[in-house]
Amino acid sequence: MANLTDASQNKVRTAEEVNFEVARGMAQIVRSTLGPLGRDKMMVDSSGRTVITNDGATILRETNFTHPTAALIVGVARTQESESYDGTTSAIILTGELVQQAEGLIQRGVHTTLIERGYNIALKEALNHLDSLSVDIESDEQLLQVANVAMTGKQAEAFKEVLSPLCVAAAKSTSPSKVNILVRPGASVEDSIATTGLMLDKQLMNHGMPKKLDKGSIALFDCDLVIPPHTAGVNVNFDNGDAADEYAQKRKQSILAIGQHLADMNVNVVVSMKDIDPVLSEFFARNGIMAFRRMNNSLLEKVAETTGAMIVSSVGDLEAEDLGSCGEVLQLSNPAWDKPVMLFSEVSNPVGYSILITGPTEHVASEVARALDDAIGVTWIAHNEKSVVNGGGSTHVNMAMHLKQFANSVGGLEQLAVEAFANALEVIPATLAQNSGLQPLPSIIALRAAIASGTTHASLDVFNGGVCTEELAVVEPKKVVTVALESATTAASQILRIDNIIQAKEAEFME
Ligand code: ADP
Ligand code: MG
Repeated sequence: MANLTDASQNKVRTAEEVNFEVARGMAQIVRSTLGPLGRDKMMVDSSGRTVITNDGATILRETNFTHPTAALIVGVARTQESESYDGTTSAIILTGELVQQAEGLIQRGVHTTLIERGYNIALKEALNHLDSLSVDIESDEQLLQVANVAMTGKQAEAFKEVLSPLCVAAAKSTSPSKVNILVRPGASVEDSIATTGLMLDKQLMNHGMPKKLDKGSIALFDCDLVIPPHTAGVNVNFDNGDAADEYAQKRKQSILAIGQHLADMNVNVVVSMKDIDPVLSEFFARNGIMAFRRMNNSLLEKVAETTGAMIVSSVGDLEAEDLGSCGEVLQLSNPAWDKPVMLFSEVSNPVGYSILITGPTEHVASEVARALDDAIGVTWIAHNEKSVVNGGGSTHVNMAMHLKQFANSVGGLEQLAVEAFANALEVIPATLAQNSGLQPLPSIIALRAAIASGTTHASLDVFNGGVCTEELAVVEPKKVVTVALESATTAASQILRIDNIIQAKEAEFME
């Protein structure tokens, strides 16, 4: 196998050969992770940080590829992840197989242009056929099943009874980008919490501050709330100690006046993007006010958006209508967690959804959070597009069977490319079977027979072997399959077209 991290190999073999090998090699890396019985990969970086995952996109992102073609394939995984949140492994495996099938045709003397044309004809026809195989989403049960399948084969799957309802609730309430997932190692995954309120990974500045307020009245600042430092070079001289004390006292009073002003406005939550003076923090604690400092910009804006507060740049500018509001503000803690989190509940503008994922270790909690994030996206797509297809190799074998018949109507050598595309689609059921300890070929033949006899929705029974005839036993959004087919075909075509890799001048890389 080509060394996937070494671009210099172009010197010894043709760029074409290396490219094909890179595509096949990358598919090889991820293929053992496909499906409910797929294995995990442990990724280790130079500093010893480890990530255990079976998510194709994560594996490729964390692998140090430097070959330019590898970057192109990593792009397939990225597109797949950003457009459909799932199906990354399938997309990479398909890309590798389309390239491998094309290699066979090239060896038989078929020109890459014809292959590319044939692949595009096949893609269009496969997608048409996919439409006829799709089923409308009508119930929450179906959405729950979509979420269950999206977590298949990941650590999160063991907790799907708890996590899938969270996915459905989140997907129905907001778009995935507005779902805020926090992680706390130290408790079991079942103890995870979900809420329409805003949860923040932030701690109170001072332990004396209240841990709970019945109603939040929130002031947001993007400025320091500190005693102004002396300008550089200014010297303050005192004749005696009293004068020095008086001066320090005056400065302290000026900062306390800020606190008093906020207290008079009935503010009970103060958030600053910058620093808050310890003197002021103490004042807040004594006066039942919560305060948070060094809140990053995006979190501050999230608080502003959800509570209706205006971010102001000086305490003097603060008006009553700038204050945000919410119901209870409370610090959630658990002796098992390393740090508490803050929850702003009953926010006035509930644009988001917050989920706190707990897990026995940091690794488990983070991997569950990643899987949940993807599953929410998948469920959201199913909820919005209302169109799903049968998984477990069903749609791929259906499309392959259809394309093999359709190929007869395609004239010229493109016909061979359409057939090759059909063969490539079968890599998905073949890999699912292989990863489940089943014989790939007999599994595909059994599936073809069931489909040919009219059970169009038949899928692979990866746990028991043979064919599963239950309808929508494994369900996935149509879009996951569509995007994978499209991006794999595009990447394979690009790879086929390249006949040379030339080291460009630096400037040309900077367009
Ligand atoms: P991807 O990154 O491509 O989503 P996965 O490891 O999640 O990779 O595997 C997805 C594949 O596994 C899909 O083809 C899906 O239909 C199939 N699959 C998921 N659950 C099952 C199941 N219970 N039985 C058979 N196939 C399944
Ligand atoms: Mg998946």
